[in-house]
Amino acid sequence: MRRSHPLASALLAGACALAVATAASAQSAETVRTAEVLRDAALRDNVALDYVTQVTTRFGARPAGSPAEQAAAAWSAEYLKSIGFQNVRIQEFPLVGWERGEDSAALLGHNPQSLVVAALGHSIPTPAGGVEGEVVRFTTLEALQAAPDGSLRGKIAYVDAGQLIPMQDGSGYGPLTRIRGAGPAEAARKGALAFVMRSVGSDMHRMPHTGTTRYVDGKVPLPGFALSGPDASQLSRLMDISEREGGPAPRLRLTSTARIYETRSQNVIADLPGRTRPQEVIVLGSHLDSWDLGTGAIDDAAGGAITIAAAKAIMQHGAPARTIRVILFGAEEVDQPNNTGNGGGAYLRSLSAEELANHVFTGESDFGADRVYALGLPVGAQRSDFARAAARVLYPIGVLPSADPETSGGADIGPIVQAGVPVFRLNQDGTRYFDLHHTADDTLDKIDPAQMSQNVAAWTALIWLAADSDVDFRAMRPAAPAGR
Ligand SMILES: [Zn+2]
Repeated sequence: MRRSHPLASALLAGACALAVATAASAQSAETVRTAEVLRDAALRDNVALDYVTQVTTRFGARPAGSPAEQAAAAWSAEYLKSIGFQNVRIQEFPLVGWERGEDSAALLGHNPQSLVVAALGHSIPTPAGGVEGEVVRFTTLEALQAAPDGSLRGKIAYVDAGQLIPMQDGSGYGPLTRIRGAGPAEAARKGALAFVMRSVGSDMHRMPHTGTTRYVDGKVPLPGFALSGPDASQLSRLMDISEREGGPAPRLRLTSTARIYETRSQNVIADLPGRTRPQEVIVLGSHLDSWDLGTGAIDDAAGGAITIAAAKAIMQHGAPARTIRVILFGAEEVDQPNNTGNGGGAYLRSLSAEELANHVFTGESDFGADRVYALGLPVGAQRSDFARAAARVLYPIGVLPSADPETSGGADIGPIVQAGVPVFRLNQDGTRYFDLHHTADDTLDKIDPAQMSQNVAAWTALIWLAADSDVDFRAMRPAAPAGR
C-alpha cells in the first residue's frame, strides 16, 4: 500500500511560497545536482571510519586537559594536514583538569556488599579512608532542595530519580543532568558528607555513567558519585525494606582519590578555503576530549570523524564558494571554576567582530554515530528556498525537515551561536546513545559504519548546499504566523 509522498506535498507548498520568497537566493540547479552526487559518493566514505578508529585506538580515553587529549590534538592536526586541509592550527587555552584516581562504594552492616560507582567529574576527593554515613533518599532534586538546612549532617544524600527513558531525540537527558550538576552543592547546603545519584543512563548494566558536576561559587563542595543502574536499584530496594520494616537506614562507605590540577586544553582548527568568498566561514564542530572510562568513540570521536569526512568529501570535488572550517574543540565535557566557555569560548574570543559577522552558518556533531533523521534549521530559514533544496537532497537518505527550529546547536558552538551565528542541527537517532554515553562501554565497536556513512552523506550534502551559495541566514526573518 502506498501513501502520498510527504515530499510531494512539501514541494507543492514550497512552489506556492516560492512566488513570495524574497530573503533567500535560490540554490542553483547545478549546486543541487552536485549535492546529490556528493551525497551518494559520501555513502561510500571511509575517511570517517579511518579517523575514529585511529584516534580511539592510538590515544584511548582523552580526558579534558590530559596528556592524551593534548597528544590526540597534535596527531589530529597532522592527520588533517595529510588529507589536504589548510591553515591547520592548534588554539590553546588554560584549564583546570580532573583525574579520577580510585573510587569505590560499599554497603556496611551485617550483610556488606560492594557497589559499582564512578565519581562525578570535578568532584573533590574523600578524606583518606573514605566517608561513612547513613543514606537519606530523595526522588527529585527539588525534594533535596526542600530538605531543612542541617538535616543531612553526618549523612549521605542519595537521589534516585529513576532510569533515563530511551528516546530518539534524547530529550530525557537534560532534566537528569540538573541533578548531576547541582546535587553536590545542594547536599552540602544541608550538611551532607557526600552525594550519590543513580547514574544518568538508559541501560541496566553495571557500568556507571560519569559526567561533570557543577562548580557553585567557584567550588565543588562535596564528593559526588554516580551508581550504576543495577546498583542504584539495589540500594533503593534496601531503602524500601528498611522503611517498611522500620529498621536502620543502609550505611555506605564512599572513597575517592580524585585530583584537580592546572593544565591546558586546545582546539584543533582546519580549513577548506572558499573558492570565491573565503572570508565567509561555515563552522563544523565536535569535541576531541572524552570521559576517562571508555575510549570516547561515540562521544565524540565520531563527531570529529563525520565532520572531517564531510569536508574531505567536498574537498575531493573542489572547494565551494565559502570556507568550510572543521573544529575539534577541547574540553567540552567539564565544568570550570570560572566558566569561560572552554573550547567554544576560546574560539569566540579569538574572532574579531568582522570575522564573527562573516561566520555564516554552524552545526555540531555530538550525539554518536547513529543515523540522521531530521534537519533543524534557524527559524527564519525553515520555509526558504534553501530549506526546500535541502529537503529534496536529504529525503533519499531518510532525513526529513524538523518541525522545530534549531536554536542552540550544542555546547561547543554554543558561544558563537549566542553571539549570533545562524545554526543548524542534523538530528541523530539517540535511542541507544544513553546506554553507552560516559561509560566504560563507549568504545569503537559500538559504531555502526553504515549509519556513520549516512551521517557523512547528510553533512556533505547540506554543507555543500550552504557553502556553494550566497544564502544569508542572518537576513532571513521568521515568517508571520498564519492568519494574522
Ligand atoms: Zn559529547
